[in-house]
Amino acid sequence: MRDAQDRPIRYLRLSLTEACQMRCVYCRPAVLGQSTPPGRITPSEIESLVRHLVSNHGLTKVRLTGGDPTARPDLINIIERIARIPGINDLAMTTNGLSLASHAKDYANAGLGRVNVSLDSLDPKRFASMTGVDALQRVLAGIDAAIDAGLTPLKLNTVVLNSENLADLPALVEYAAMRGVEIRFIELMPMGPLAEHWAERYVPASRMRNTLAQIITGWQTATQGSDSAQTYDVTLRDGRHARIGFITPMSCNFCSACNRLRITSDGSLYPCLMDQPRGNLTEAIRPKFDTPLLDRLLSEAIQAKAPEHPVTGVAVMTQIGG
Ligand code: SAM
Repeated sequence: MRDAQDRPIRYLRLSLTEACQMRCVYCRPAVLGQSTPPGRITPSEIESLVRHLVSNHGLTKVRLTGGDPTARPDLINIIERIARIPGINDLAMTTNGLSLASHAKDYANAGLGRVNVSLDSLDPKRFASMTGVDALQRVLAGIDAAIDAGLTPLKLNTVVLNSENLADLPALVEYAAMRGVEIRFIELMPMGPLAEHWAERYVPASRMRNTLAQIITGWQTATQGSDSAQTYDVTLRDGRHARIGFITPMSCNFCSACNRLRITSDGSLYPCLMDQPRGNLTEAIRPKFDTPLLDRLLSEAIQAKAPEHPVTGVAVMTQIGG
């Protein structure tokens, strides 16, 4: 699949549920309840859809997201079904990490390749105030369990907020260096009703780099592909090495390299994280798979993919999946 800008679309980000065990201040507005609306796409519908996208449209990569994908009781079934599809060479999941200490091995055995784990602070109080749960130690144990289970390369995701965790960045880099994992610092995006707090919370990547200067002596650019992060191999003052990514949707967007299509648990098609949905594929997969209709809906959505993301996001992040 290619969009109107001739960008190849090979990467599906599938939001399995709106539900999440956390209530991050930058992600989930207080007005949103915990339940997922009925009618969400089922494991067998997901399998048929992904098979179709691989066989007919060149899909190679799937990331499970949410809400939190682990809030779905049928997650293992979904992983198994996608993992056995020939042509998927990267099956990843983004998670809050709460279930990894007990289930990382199950996910790996089911065929999951790797995980990204959100980690906003190493300070237990700040972690609790940013995420709404007092669970830092559980998430850290989950990160260790995921590394042990081989869900690697594991990446850590940190959304950086002005009045909250900017000062925590050096400690987070040191932690990532000790674990041998990459950490990515994410610029806050103005999404849905939370956009009204954006200006006072937003920190550009340049300011994050200034804060990190106290522990870093050398920066070397590692990559900038269709991956959304600008990644640096860095040398720390104590001689250790670390890998740091900056995800800069606001200060320096990476839209020209975007290869993503997003589908939410209710079947909505989002060609861009910050744009409105461009159709819903439920009618093309239920009650039976209607291939011509599905292809028409996919094509319409992809042709509507904006050249650059709008200034403010339409959806709430926890619905569309980050
Ligand atoms: N629950 C999972 C988690 O905690 O990673 C997956 C869903 S979450 C919506 C996916 C990613 O979006 C996380 O890395 C999260 O930090 C990021 N995110 C959420 N709200 C954001 C915002 N307003 N701006 C930038 N990133 C955001």
